[in-house]
Amino acid sequence: MPDPSDSNHIPHATAMKVPTPDLDEVTADYDKLEARLDAAEDHDARLEVIRDWDGLRRRLDSWRSLAHLRFNQETDNNEYRTEREQCDEMTPRLTRLDVSLKRKLLASPHRPALEEKYGAQAFALWESDVMAFEPIIEEDLVQEAKLEAQYVDLLAHARIGFRGKALNLPQIRRHATGPHRDTRHEAEQARWAWFTDHTPELDRIFDELVRLRTSMAHKLGFASYVELGYRRMQRVDYDAADVARFRSQVRQHVVPLAAALRQRQAARLGVERLYFWDEAVHDPMGNPEPMGDYDWMLSRAQEMFDAMHPDLASFFAMMRDRGLLDLQARNGKSDGGFCTGFPIWGVPFIFGNFNGSKADVEVFTHENGHAFQFHRSSSSMELLDYIWPTAESCEVHSMGLEFLTWPHMELFFGERAERFRRNHLTDSLLFLPYGAAVDHFQHLVYERPEASGDERREMWQEMERTYLPWRRYRDLAHPAAGGFWQLQRHIYINPFYYIDYCLAQTCALQFWLRSREDADATLNAYVALCNRGGRLPFQALVQSAGLASPFDEGVLEHVVGQSQDVLETLASKCSRDSC
Ligand SMILES: [Zn+2]
Repeated sequence: MPDPSDSNHIPHATAMKVPTPDLDEVTADYDKLEARLDAAEDHDARLEVIRDWDGLRRRLDSWRSLAHLRFNQETDNNEYRTEREQCDEMTPRLTRLDVSLKRKLLASPHRPALEEKYGAQAFALWESDVMAFEPIIEEDLVQEAKLEAQYVDLLAHARIGFRGKALNLPQIRRHATGPHRDTRHEAEQARWAWFTDHTPELDRIFDELVRLRTSMAHKLGFASYVELGYRRMQRVDYDAADVARFRSQVRQHVVPLAAALRQRQAARLGVERLYFWDEAVHDPMGNPEPMGDYDWMLSRAQEMFDAMHPDLASFFAMMRDRGLLDLQARNGKSDGGFCTGFPIWGVPFIFGNFNGSKADVEVFTHENGHAFQFHRSSSSMELLDYIWPTAESCEVHSMGLEFLTWPHMELFFGERAERFRRNHLTDSLLFLPYGAAVDHFQHLVYERPEASGDERREMWQEMERTYLPWRRYRDLAHPAAGGFWQLQRHIYINPFYYIDYCLAQTCALQFWLRSREDADATLNAYVALCNRGGRLPFQALVQSAGLASPFDEGVLEHVVGQSQDVLETLASKCSRDSC
Protein backbone atom coordinates (compact mmCIF):
# COMPACT_ATOMS: atom_id res chain seq x y z
CA MET A 1 0.00 0.00 0.00
CA PRO A 2 1.30 3.48 -0.88
CA ASP A 3 2.83 5.62 1.85
CA PRO A 4 1.06 9.02 1.90
CA SER A 5 4.23 10.88 2.83
CA ASP A 6 6.07 9.59 -0.22
CA SER A 7 4.69 10.72 -3.57
CA ASN A 8 7.50 9.44 -5.79
CA HIS A 9 5.48 6.45 -6.94
CA ILE A 10 2.62 8.67 -8.17
CA PRO A 11 2.65 9.43 -11.88
CA HIS A 12 1.57 12.86 -13.12
CA ALA A 13 -2.17 12.75 -13.80
CA THR A 14 -1.68 13.26 -17.54
CA ALA A 15 0.52 10.14 -17.65
CA MET A 16 -1.82 7.92 -15.65
CA LYS A 17 -2.81 4.74 -17.41
CA VAL A 18 -4.56 1.60 -16.24
CA PRO A 19 -4.74 -1.19 -18.83
CA THR A 20 -8.27 -2.20 -19.89
CA PRO A 21 -8.94 -5.47 -18.06
CA ASP A 22 -9.47 -8.60 -20.06
CA LEU A 23 -12.71 -10.12 -18.80
CA ASP A 24 -11.56 -13.71 -19.35
CA GLU A 25 -8.38 -13.08 -17.42
CA VAL A 26 -10.19 -11.37 -14.57
CA THR A 27 -12.73 -14.21 -14.46
CA ALA A 28 -9.87 -16.70 -14.19
CA ASP A 29 -8.33 -14.57 -11.41
CA TYR A 30 -11.60 -14.65 -9.47
CA ASP A 31 -11.97 -18.41 -10.01
CA LYS A 32 -8.51 -18.89 -8.56
CA LEU A 33 -9.30 -16.66 -5.59
CA GLU A 34 -12.47 -18.62 -4.83
CA ALA A 35 -10.64 -21.93 -5.12
CA ARG A 36 -7.85 -20.70 -2.85
CA LEU A 37 -10.41 -19.49 -0.31
CA ASP A 38 -12.07 -22.93 -0.31
CA ALA A 39 -8.73 -24.64 0.08
CA ALA A 40 -7.29 -22.24 2.67
CA GLU A 41 -6.18 -24.23 5.67
CA ASP A 42 -5.85 -21.50 8.25
CA HIS A 43 -6.69 -17.91 9.13
CA ASP A 44 -3.50 -16.50 7.61
CA ALA A 45 -4.11 -18.25 4.32
CA ARG A 46 -7.60 -16.75 4.17
CA LEU A 47 -6.24 -13.27 4.90
CA GLU A 48 -3.78 -13.68 2.06
CA VAL A 49 -6.60 -14.48 -0.36
CA ILE A 50 -8.51 -11.40 0.81
CA ARG A 51 -5.39 -9.26 0.38
CA ASP A 52 -4.93 -10.47 -3.19
CA TRP A 53 -8.61 -9.94 -3.93
CA ASP A 54 -8.34 -6.41 -2.58
CA GLY A 55 -5.32 -5.71 -4.79
CA LEU A 56 -7.25 -6.84 -7.84
CA ARG A 57 -10.26 -4.74 -6.89
CA ARG A 58 -8.07 -1.66 -6.40
CA ARG A 59 -6.72 -2.08 -9.92
CA LEU A 60 -10.21 -2.53 -11.42
CA ASP A 61 -11.59 0.37 -9.40
CA SER A 62 -8.76 2.65 -10.56
CA TRP A 63 -9.44 1.67 -14.16
CA ARG A 64 -13.15 2.51 -13.77
CA SER A 65 -12.38 5.87 -12.14
CA LEU A 66 -9.91 6.80 -14.85
CA ALA A 67 -12.21 5.75 -17.71
CA HIS A 68 -15.04 7.87 -16.33
CA LEU A 69 -12.81 10.81 -15.51
CA ARG A 70 -11.25 10.97 -18.99
CA PHE A 71 -14.69 10.85 -20.62
CA ASN A 72 -15.98 13.67 -18.40
CA GLN A 73 -12.91 15.72 -19.27
CA GLU A 74 -13.39 15.32 -23.02
CA THR A 75 -16.80 14.01 -23.95
CA ASP A 76 -15.94 14.50 -27.65
CA ASN A 77 -12.84 12.32 -27.59
CA ASN A 78 -13.73 9.05 -29.33
CA GLU A 79 -11.03 7.02 -27.65
CA TYR A 80 -12.26 8.09 -24.20
CA ARG A 81 -15.86 7.51 -25.19
CA THR A 82 -15.08 3.98 -26.34
CA GLU A 83 -13.18 3.23 -23.14
CA ARG A 84 -16.07 4.51 -21.04
CA GLU A 85 -18.55 2.44 -23.03
CA GLN A 86 -16.38 -0.62 -22.51
CA CYS A 87 -16.27 0.18 -18.83
CA ASP A 88 -20.06 0.51 -18.60
CA GLU A 89 -20.39 -2.76 -20.46
CA MET A 90 -17.90 -4.62 -18.27
CA THR A 91 -18.78 -3.22 -14.83
CA PRO A 92 -21.85 -5.44 -14.25
CA ARG A 93 -19.78 -8.50 -15.28
CA LEU A 94 -17.16 -7.53 -12.73
CA THR A 95 -19.88 -6.96 -10.13
CA ARG A 96 -21.06 -10.53 -10.73
CA LEU A 97 -17.58 -11.87 -9.96
CA ASP A 98 -17.22 -9.65 -6.93
CA VAL A 99 -20.65 -10.51 -5.51
CA SER A 100 -19.93 -14.21 -5.87
CA LEU A 101 -16.82 -13.86 -3.70
CA LYS A 102 -18.65 -11.68 -1.20
CA ARG A 103 -21.35 -14.34 -0.87
CA LYS A 104 -18.69 -16.88 -0.12
CA LEU A 105 -17.20 -14.71 2.61
CA LEU A 106 -20.62 -13.96 4.11
CA ALA A 107 -21.44 -17.65 4.28
CA SER A 108 -18.01 -18.70 5.48
CA PRO A 109 -17.84 -20.70 8.72
CA HIS A 110 -14.77 -18.55 9.48
CA ARG A 111 -16.75 -15.33 9.29
CA PRO A 112 -16.46 -14.47 13.02
CA ALA A 113 -12.65 -14.50 12.81
CA LEU A 114 -12.71 -12.47 9.61
CA GLU A 115 -15.13 -9.97 11.14
CA GLU A 116 -12.82 -9.65 14.06
CA LYS A 117 -9.96 -8.83 11.70
CA TYR A 118 -11.75 -6.44 9.31
CA GLY A 119 -14.65 -5.15 11.38
CA ALA A 120 -18.37 -5.84 11.00
CA GLN A 121 -18.94 -2.95 8.62
CA ALA A 122 -17.40 -4.71 5.60
CA PHE A 123 -19.80 -7.61 6.09
CA ALA A 124 -22.76 -5.27 6.46
CA LEU A 125 -21.76 -3.52 3.21
CA TRP A 126 -21.36 -6.83 1.41
CA GLU A 127 -24.79 -7.96 2.61
CA SER A 128 -26.18 -4.83 0.99
CA ASP A 129 -24.20 -5.51 -2.20
CA VAL A 130 -25.38 -9.09 -2.58
CA MET A 131 -29.01 -8.05 -2.07
CA ALA A 132 -28.63 -5.46 -4.82
CA PHE A 133 -27.33 -7.82 -7.47
CA GLU A 134 -28.21 -11.04 -9.27
CA PRO A 135 -26.85 -12.03 -12.69
CA ILE A 136 -30.43 -11.63 -13.98
CA ILE A 137 -30.05 -7.82 -13.90
CA GLU A 138 -26.63 -7.72 -15.60
CA GLU A 139 -27.95 -6.51 -18.97
CA ASP A 140 -30.23 -3.98 -17.24
CA LEU A 141 -27.20 -2.45 -15.53
CA VAL A 142 -25.43 -2.04 -18.86
CA GLN A 143 -28.53 -0.34 -20.25
CA GLU A 144 -28.82 1.88 -17.17
CA ALA A 145 -25.25 3.12 -17.62
CA LYS A 146 -26.00 3.92 -21.27
CA LEU A 147 -29.05 5.97 -20.37
CA GLU A 148 -27.12 7.85 -17.70
CA ALA A 149 -24.42 8.62 -20.24
CA GLN A 150 -27.05 9.98 -22.62
CA TYR A 151 -28.14 12.50 -20.00
CA VAL A 152 -24.57 13.59 -19.21
CA ASP A 153 -23.83 13.88 -22.92
CA LEU A 154 -26.93 15.91 -23.66
CA LEU A 155 -26.12 18.47 -20.97
CA ALA A 156 -22.40 18.58 -21.79
CA HIS A 157 -23.32 19.60 -25.34
CA ALA A 158 -25.91 22.21 -24.44
CA ARG A 159 -25.17 25.42 -26.34
CA ILE A 160 -27.26 28.29 -25.14
CA GLY A 161 -27.69 31.38 -27.27
CA PHE A 162 -27.17 34.46 -25.13
CA ARG A 163 -26.47 37.97 -26.42
CA GLY A 164 -24.90 36.74 -29.62
CA LYS A 165 -22.81 34.00 -28.00
CA ALA A 166 -23.24 30.25 -27.66
CA LEU A 167 -22.59 29.42 -24.00
CA ASN A 168 -22.29 26.12 -22.15
CA LEU A 169 -24.21 25.51 -18.91
CA PRO A 170 -21.51 26.68 -16.44
CA GLN A 171 -21.06 29.87 -18.49
CA ILE A 172 -24.75 30.72 -18.59
CA ARG A 173 -24.96 30.03 -14.85
CA ARG A 174 -22.47 32.81 -14.26
CA HIS A 175 -24.78 35.31 -16.01
CA ALA A 176 -27.78 33.88 -14.16
CA THR A 177 -26.18 34.69 -10.81
CA GLY A 178 -24.65 38.10 -11.62
CA PRO A 179 -25.45 41.47 -10.03
CA HIS A 180 -27.83 42.77 -12.74
CA ARG A 181 -31.38 41.62 -12.35
CA ASP A 182 -32.35 41.98 -16.02
CA THR A 183 -29.30 40.02 -17.09
CA ARG A 184 -30.11 37.26 -14.64
CA HIS A 185 -33.65 37.07 -15.90
CA GLU A 186 -32.53 37.01 -19.52
CA ALA A 187 -29.93 34.31 -18.77
CA GLU A 188 -32.54 32.16 -17.03
CA GLN A 189 -34.90 32.61 -19.98
CA ALA A 190 -32.15 31.41 -22.32
CA ARG A 191 -31.17 28.52 -20.07
CA TRP A 192 -34.70 27.24 -19.60
CA ALA A 193 -35.56 27.68 -23.28
CA TRP A 194 -32.89 25.03 -23.93
CA PHE A 195 -34.64 22.72 -21.46
CA THR A 196 -38.00 23.38 -23.14
CA ASP A 197 -36.46 22.46 -26.49
CA HIS A 198 -35.10 19.23 -25.04
CA THR A 199 -38.07 18.19 -22.89
CA PRO A 200 -39.02 15.13 -24.98
CA GLU A 201 -35.43 13.80 -24.79
CA LEU A 202 -35.10 14.58 -21.06
CA ASP A 203 -38.48 12.95 -20.35
CA ARG A 204 -37.65 9.87 -22.42
CA ILE A 205 -34.30 9.25 -20.71
CA PHE A 206 -35.82 9.62 -17.26
CA ASP A 207 -38.85 7.50 -18.02
CA GLU A 208 -36.66 4.69 -19.34
CA LEU A 209 -34.44 4.93 -16.26
CA VAL A 210 -37.37 4.76 -13.85
CA ARG A 211 -38.92 1.77 -15.62
CA LEU A 212 -35.60 -0.02 -15.88
CA ARG A 213 -34.70 0.53 -12.25
CA THR A 214 -38.17 -0.60 -11.17
CA SER A 215 -37.91 -3.73 -13.25
CA MET A 216 -34.50 -4.52 -11.69
CA ALA A 217 -36.04 -4.09 -8.23
CA HIS A 218 -38.87 -6.50 -9.08
CA LYS A 219 -36.44 -9.06 -10.50
CA LEU A 220 -34.54 -8.95 -7.20
CA GLY A 221 -37.74 -9.38 -5.18
CA PHE A 222 -38.12 -5.81 -3.91
CA ALA A 223 -41.52 -4.13 -3.88
CA SER A 224 -40.18 -0.99 -5.54
CA TYR A 225 -36.93 0.69 -6.53
CA VAL A 226 -36.95 2.61 -3.24
CA GLU A 227 -35.80 -0.51 -1.38
CA LEU A 228 -33.21 -1.39 -4.02
CA GLY A 229 -32.02 2.24 -4.15
CA TYR A 230 -31.32 2.18 -0.42
CA ARG A 231 -29.37 -1.08 -0.79
CA ARG A 232 -27.34 0.35 -3.65
CA MET A 233 -26.53 3.36 -1.47
CA GLN A 234 -25.34 0.78 1.13
CA ARG A 235 -27.45 2.32 3.89
CA VAL A 236 -26.83 -0.14 6.67
CA ASP A 237 -27.80 1.82 9.76
CA TYR A 238 -31.00 3.68 8.83
CA ASP A 239 -33.99 3.19 6.54
CA ALA A 240 -36.66 5.03 4.57
CA ALA A 241 -38.75 5.63 7.70
CA ASP A 242 -35.80 7.41 9.38
CA VAL A 243 -35.31 9.53 6.28
CA ALA A 244 -39.03 10.40 6.16
CA ARG A 245 -38.86 11.53 9.80
CA PHE A 246 -35.83 13.66 9.01
CA ARG A 247 -37.66 15.31 6.09
CA SER A 248 -40.61 16.06 8.33
CA GLN A 249 -38.22 17.83 10.73
CA VAL A 250 -36.98 19.88 7.79
CA ARG A 251 -40.56 20.87 6.98
CA GLN A 252 -41.28 21.74 10.57
CA HIS A 253 -38.12 23.55 11.62
CA VAL A 254 -36.33 24.72 8.48
CA VAL A 255 -38.97 25.65 5.91
CA PRO A 256 -40.41 28.52 8.02
CA LEU A 257 -36.90 29.85 8.71
CA ALA A 258 -35.99 29.56 5.01
CA ALA A 259 -39.14 31.48 4.04
CA ALA A 260 -38.11 34.26 6.44
CA LEU A 261 -34.59 34.28 4.99
CA ARG A 262 -36.05 34.68 1.50
CA GLN A 263 -38.15 37.61 2.67
CA ARG A 264 -35.11 39.27 4.14
CA GLN A 265 -33.20 38.61 0.94
CA ALA A 266 -35.92 40.36 -1.08
CA ALA A 267 -35.73 43.36 1.24
CA ARG A 268 -31.94 43.49 0.95
CA LEU A 269 -32.11 43.31 -2.84
CA GLY A 270 -34.79 46.00 -2.80
CA VAL A 271 -37.28 43.94 -4.80
CA GLU A 272 -40.94 43.70 -4.03
CA ARG A 273 -41.11 40.06 -4.93
CA LEU A 274 -38.27 37.57 -5.13
CA TYR A 275 -38.27 35.65 -8.40
CA PHE A 276 -36.31 32.53 -9.19
CA TRP A 277 -33.57 34.58 -10.89
CA ASP A 278 -33.00 36.49 -7.64
CA GLU A 279 -32.61 33.48 -5.39
CA ALA A 280 -28.86 32.95 -5.88
CA VAL A 281 -27.97 36.58 -5.19
CA HIS A 282 -27.76 37.98 -1.68
CA ASP A 283 -26.32 41.44 -2.29
CA PRO A 284 -27.59 44.33 -4.39
CA MET A 285 -23.96 44.77 -5.49
CA GLY A 286 -23.71 41.10 -6.46
CA ASN A 287 -22.23 38.18 -4.56
CA PRO A 288 -18.56 38.46 -3.58
CA GLU A 289 -16.30 36.84 -6.16
CA PRO A 290 -12.75 35.53 -5.80
CA MET A 291 -10.39 38.42 -6.49
CA GLY A 292 -8.03 36.74 -8.93
CA ASP A 293 -7.73 34.20 -11.71
CA TYR A 294 -7.36 30.45 -11.48
CA ASP A 295 -3.60 30.29 -10.77
CA TRP A 296 -4.00 33.00 -8.17
CA MET A 297 -6.73 30.94 -6.52
CA LEU A 298 -4.56 27.86 -6.31
CA SER A 299 -1.77 29.84 -4.65
CA ARG A 300 -4.22 31.31 -2.12
CA ALA A 301 -5.54 27.80 -1.47
CA GLN A 302 -2.03 26.57 -0.73
CA GLU A 303 -1.57 29.43 1.74
CA MET A 304 -4.86 28.53 3.36
CA PHE A 305 -4.04 24.83 3.79
CA ASP A 306 -0.53 25.68 5.01
CA ALA A 307 -2.08 27.79 7.75
CA MET A 308 -4.68 25.17 8.68
CA HIS A 309 -2.95 21.84 9.23
CA PRO A 310 0.33 20.20 8.13
CA ASP A 311 -1.53 17.20 6.68
CA LEU A 312 -3.77 19.43 4.56
CA ALA A 313 -0.74 21.44 3.45
CA SER A 314 1.29 18.47 2.20
CA PHE A 315 -1.81 16.91 0.65
CA PHE A 316 -2.62 19.97 -1.44
CA ALA A 317 0.99 20.49 -2.52
CA MET A 318 0.94 16.91 -3.80
CA MET A 319 -2.35 17.51 -5.65
CA ARG A 320 -0.86 20.48 -7.51
CA ASP A 321 2.47 18.80 -8.11
CA ARG A 322 0.86 15.72 -9.67
CA GLY A 323 -1.73 17.63 -11.73
CA LEU A 324 -4.67 16.09 -9.88
CA LEU A 325 -6.97 19.06 -10.44
CA ASP A 326 -9.01 19.87 -13.57
CA LEU A 327 -11.15 22.76 -12.50
CA GLN A 328 -11.68 25.18 -15.37
CA ALA A 329 -14.83 25.03 -17.51
CA ARG A 330 -14.41 24.33 -21.22
CA ASN A 331 -16.56 23.13 -24.09
CA GLY A 332 -17.02 19.39 -24.35
CA LYS A 333 -16.28 18.89 -20.66
CA SER A 334 -19.24 17.55 -18.71
CA ASP A 335 -20.93 19.84 -16.20
CA GLY A 336 -20.64 19.68 -12.42
CA GLY A 337 -17.91 18.99 -9.93
CA PHE A 338 -16.79 15.74 -8.33
CA CYS A 339 -13.91 13.96 -6.71
CA THR A 340 -12.77 10.55 -7.81
CA GLY A 341 -9.83 8.43 -6.71
CA PHE A 342 -7.23 5.93 -7.86
CA PRO A 343 -6.59 3.40 -5.09
CA ILE A 344 -3.56 1.90 -6.85
CA TRP A 345 -1.66 5.17 -6.47
CA GLY A 346 -3.49 6.29 -3.33
CA VAL A 347 -4.45 9.61 -4.89
CA PRO A 348 -7.71 11.42 -5.60
CA PHE A 349 -8.57 13.67 -8.53
CA ILE A 350 -10.78 16.77 -8.45
CA PHE A 351 -12.94 17.73 -11.40
CA GLY A 352 -14.79 21.05 -11.58
CA ASN A 353 -16.12 23.78 -13.85
CA PHE A 354 -14.97 27.08 -12.41
CA ASN A 355 -16.67 30.14 -13.83
CA GLY A 356 -15.23 32.95 -11.70
CA SER A 357 -18.08 33.04 -9.17
CA LYS A 358 -18.12 32.44 -5.41
CA ALA A 359 -19.29 28.89 -6.14
CA ASP A 360 -15.75 28.15 -7.31
CA VAL A 361 -14.47 28.55 -3.77
CA GLU A 362 -17.33 26.48 -2.35
CA VAL A 363 -16.85 23.67 -4.87
CA PHE A 364 -13.12 23.86 -4.30
CA THR A 365 -13.22 23.48 -0.52
CA HIS A 366 -15.97 20.87 -0.83
CA GLU A 367 -14.14 18.60 -3.27
CA ASN A 368 -10.86 19.02 -1.41
CA GLY A 369 -12.60 17.65 1.68
CA HIS A 370 -13.45 14.48 -0.26
CA ALA A 371 -10.00 14.34 -1.80
CA PHE A 372 -8.17 14.77 1.49
CA GLN A 373 -10.17 11.99 3.11
CA PHE A 374 -9.56 9.65 0.18
CA HIS A 375 -5.86 10.37 0.28
CA ARG A 376 -5.68 9.64 4.00
CA SER A 377 -7.70 6.41 3.81
CA SER A 378 -6.39 4.87 0.64
CA SER A 379 -3.03 4.25 2.23
CA SER A 380 -4.22 3.05 5.62
CA MET A 381 -7.36 1.01 4.98
CA GLU A 382 -6.99 -2.71 4.45
CA LEU A 383 -10.10 -3.02 2.33
CA LEU A 384 -11.21 -1.09 -0.72
CA ASP A 385 -14.66 -0.96 0.90
CA TYR A 386 -13.25 1.27 3.64
CA ILE A 387 -11.45 3.87 1.50
CA TRP A 388 -14.63 5.87 0.96
CA PRO A 389 -17.28 5.62 3.66
CA THR A 390 -20.92 5.57 2.57
CA ALA A 391 -22.01 8.74 0.76
CA GLU A 392 -23.61 10.69 3.63
CA SER A 393 -20.41 10.26 5.64
CA CYS A 394 -18.30 11.35 2.65
CA GLU A 395 -20.33 14.54 2.46
CA VAL A 396 -19.47 15.34 6.07
CA HIS A 397 -15.80 15.51 5.03
CA SER A 398 -16.59 17.82 2.12
CA MET A 399 -19.25 20.05 3.66
CA GLY A 400 -17.28 20.09 6.89
CA LEU A 401 -14.23 21.51 5.14
CA GLU A 402 -16.38 24.20 3.48
CA PHE A 403 -17.07 25.50 6.98
CA LEU A 404 -13.71 24.83 8.59
CA THR A 405 -12.00 27.00 5.95
CA TRP A 406 -14.18 29.99 6.93
CA PRO A 407 -11.47 31.86 8.93
CA HIS A 408 -9.32 31.95 5.76
CA MET A 409 -11.84 33.36 3.32
CA GLU A 410 -10.13 36.78 3.41
CA LEU A 411 -7.49 35.16 1.19
CA PHE A 412 -10.05 34.81 -1.60
CA PHE A 413 -12.54 37.60 -0.96
CA GLY A 414 -10.55 40.29 0.86
CA GLU A 415 -12.79 42.69 2.74
CA ARG A 416 -15.89 41.01 1.32
CA ALA A 417 -15.11 37.76 3.17
CA GLU A 418 -17.69 38.43 5.87
CA ARG A 419 -20.35 38.74 3.18
CA PHE A 420 -19.18 35.50 1.66
CA ARG A 421 -19.57 33.81 5.06
CA ARG A 422 -23.03 35.25 5.54
CA ASN A 423 -24.09 34.07 2.07
CA HIS A 424 -22.53 30.65 2.52
CA LEU A 425 -24.33 30.10 5.80
CA THR A 426 -27.61 31.42 4.37
CA ASP A 427 -27.29 29.15 1.35
CA SER A 428 -26.41 26.20 3.57
CA LEU A 429 -29.63 26.64 5.56
CA LEU A 430 -31.67 27.26 2.42
CA PHE A 431 -30.22 24.11 0.93
CA LEU A 432 -31.87 21.83 3.50
CA PRO A 433 -35.45 22.25 2.19
CA TYR A 434 -34.26 21.92 -1.42
CA GLY A 435 -32.34 18.74 -0.63
CA ALA A 436 -35.34 17.28 1.18
CA ALA A 437 -37.55 18.16 -1.81
CA VAL A 438 -35.25 16.33 -4.23
CA ASP A 439 -35.24 13.30 -1.95
CA HIS A 440 -38.99 13.27 -1.34
CA PHE A 441 -39.62 13.68 -5.09
CA GLN A 442 -37.59 10.58 -5.87
CA HIS A 443 -39.59 8.56 -3.36
CA LEU A 444 -42.80 9.68 -5.08
CA VAL A 445 -41.38 8.89 -8.52
CA TYR A 446 -40.25 5.36 -7.69
CA GLU A 447 -43.38 4.59 -5.67
CA ARG A 448 -45.41 5.28 -8.82
CA PRO A 449 -43.10 4.29 -11.70
CA GLU A 450 -45.92 4.22 -14.25
CA ALA A 451 -46.59 7.97 -13.89
CA SER A 452 -46.39 10.10 -17.04
CA GLY A 453 -44.01 13.00 -17.59
CA ASP A 454 -46.78 15.45 -16.74
CA GLU A 455 -47.66 13.57 -13.58
CA ARG A 456 -44.01 13.69 -12.52
CA ARG A 457 -44.03 17.45 -13.10
CA GLU A 458 -47.05 17.68 -10.82
CA MET A 459 -45.20 15.67 -8.18
CA TRP A 460 -42.31 18.14 -8.35
CA GLN A 461 -44.70 21.09 -8.07
CA GLU A 462 -46.16 19.53 -4.95
CA MET A 463 -42.61 19.32 -3.55
CA GLU A 464 -42.01 22.99 -4.35
CA ARG A 465 -45.24 24.00 -2.61
CA THR A 466 -44.20 21.96 0.43
CA TYR A 467 -40.50 22.72 0.72
CA LEU A 468 -39.91 25.86 -1.37
CA PRO A 469 -43.19 27.77 -0.99
CA TRP A 470 -41.53 31.11 -1.85
CA ARG A 471 -40.45 30.01 -5.31
CA ARG A 472 -41.82 32.03 -8.28
CA TYR A 473 -40.78 31.29 -11.87
CA ARG A 474 -43.12 33.76 -13.61
CA ASP A 475 -42.33 33.52 -17.34
CA LEU A 476 -39.78 30.69 -17.16
CA ALA A 477 -42.06 28.17 -18.82
CA HIS A 478 -40.10 24.96 -18.20
CA PRO A 479 -39.70 25.19 -14.42
CA ALA A 480 -43.08 26.92 -14.06
CA ALA A 481 -44.60 23.74 -15.50
CA GLY A 482 -42.78 21.57 -12.93
CA GLY A 483 -39.61 20.74 -14.87
CA PHE A 484 -36.95 22.28 -12.63
CA TRP A 485 -35.66 18.91 -11.40
CA GLN A 486 -34.43 17.98 -14.86
CA LEU A 487 -31.25 19.97 -14.33
CA GLN A 488 -30.50 18.12 -11.09
CA ARG A 489 -27.98 15.57 -12.29
CA HIS A 490 -28.29 13.29 -9.25
CA ILE A 491 -31.95 12.59 -10.01
CA TYR A 492 -30.87 11.00 -13.27
CA ILE A 493 -27.58 9.38 -12.44
CA ASN A 494 -27.35 8.94 -8.65
CA PRO A 495 -30.85 7.99 -7.47
CA PHE A 496 -31.47 8.65 -3.77
CA TYR A 497 -28.06 10.28 -3.39
CA TYR A 498 -29.34 13.63 -2.20
CA ILE A 499 -30.68 13.45 1.32
CA ASP A 500 -27.06 12.55 2.05
CA TYR A 501 -26.18 16.22 1.63
CA CYS A 502 -28.84 17.24 4.14
CA LEU A 503 -27.74 14.65 6.69
CA ALA A 504 -24.13 15.71 6.18
CA GLN A 505 -24.99 19.41 6.39
CA THR A 506 -26.51 18.78 9.81
CA CYS A 507 -23.13 17.33 10.84
CA ALA A 508 -21.00 19.94 9.05
CA LEU A 509 -22.87 22.72 10.86
CA GLN A 510 -22.09 21.01 14.17
CA PHE A 511 -18.38 20.91 13.27
CA TRP A 512 -18.52 24.59 12.39
CA LEU A 513 -20.37 25.61 15.58
CA ARG A 514 -17.76 23.73 17.60
CA SER A 515 -14.87 25.28 15.68
CA ARG A 516 -16.12 28.70 16.77
CA GLU A 517 -15.36 27.62 20.34
CA ASP A 518 -12.11 25.78 19.67
CA ALA A 519 -10.81 25.88 16.10
CA ASP A 520 -7.70 23.71 16.58
CA ALA A 521 -9.39 20.91 18.49
CA THR A 522 -12.22 20.81 15.94
CA LEU A 523 -9.81 20.66 13.01
CA ASN A 524 -7.97 17.80 14.70
CA ALA A 525 -11.29 15.98 15.21
CA TYR A 526 -12.05 16.55 11.52
CA VAL A 527 -8.69 15.13 10.40
CA ALA A 528 -9.18 12.16 12.74
CA LEU A 529 -12.61 11.52 11.19
CA CYS A 530 -11.05 11.58 7.70
CA ASN A 531 -8.37 9.14 8.87
CA ARG A 532 -11.08 6.77 10.07
CA GLY A 533 -12.29 6.28 6.48
CA GLY A 534 -15.29 4.00 6.17
CA ARG A 535 -14.60 1.43 8.87
CA LEU A 536 -17.88 2.34 10.57
CA PRO A 537 -21.44 3.06 9.42
CA PHE A 538 -22.65 6.67 9.23
CA GLN A 539 -24.07 7.21 12.69
CA ALA A 540 -21.15 5.51 14.40
CA LEU A 541 -18.68 7.65 12.42
CA VAL A 542 -20.59 10.78 13.36
CA GLN A 543 -20.54 9.75 16.99
CA SER A 544 -16.81 8.99 16.82
CA ALA A 545 -16.25 12.65 15.93
CA GLY A 546 -18.35 13.80 18.89
CA LEU A 547 -21.28 14.88 16.69
CA ALA A 548 -24.97 14.05 17.18
CA SER A 549 -26.81 11.95 14.62
CA PRO A 550 -29.19 13.98 12.41
CA PHE A 551 -31.79 11.29 13.08
CA ASP A 552 -31.80 11.95 16.82
CA GLU A 553 -34.79 13.84 18.11
CA GLY A 554 -34.26 17.59 18.23
CA VAL A 555 -30.77 17.63 16.67
CA LEU A 556 -31.74 19.38 13.44
CA GLU A 557 -33.84 21.95 15.30
CA HIS A 558 -31.00 22.67 17.71
CA VAL A 559 -28.30 22.94 15.04
CA VAL A 560 -30.40 25.15 12.79
CA GLY A 561 -31.39 27.35 15.74
CA GLN A 562 -27.78 27.90 16.76
CA SER A 563 -26.77 28.60 13.18
CA GLN A 564 -29.55 31.13 12.89
CA ASP A 565 -28.20 32.99 15.93
CA VAL A 566 -24.78 33.32 14.28
CA LEU A 567 -26.41 34.35 11.03
CA GLU A 568 -28.22 37.21 12.80
CA THR A 569 -24.88 38.53 14.06
CA LEU A 570 -23.27 38.21 10.64
CA ALA A 571 -26.22 39.81 8.88
CA SER A 572 -26.29 42.84 11.15
CA LYS A 573 -22.51 43.20 10.85
CA CYS A 574 -22.70 43.10 7.05
CA SER A 575 -25.49 45.66 6.91
CA ARG A 576 -23.52 48.01 9.23
CA ASP A 577 -20.19 47.74 7.44
CA SER A 578 -19.68 48.31 3.77
CA CYS A 579 -17.87 44.94 3.62
ZN1 LIG B 1 -19.61 15.99 -2.19
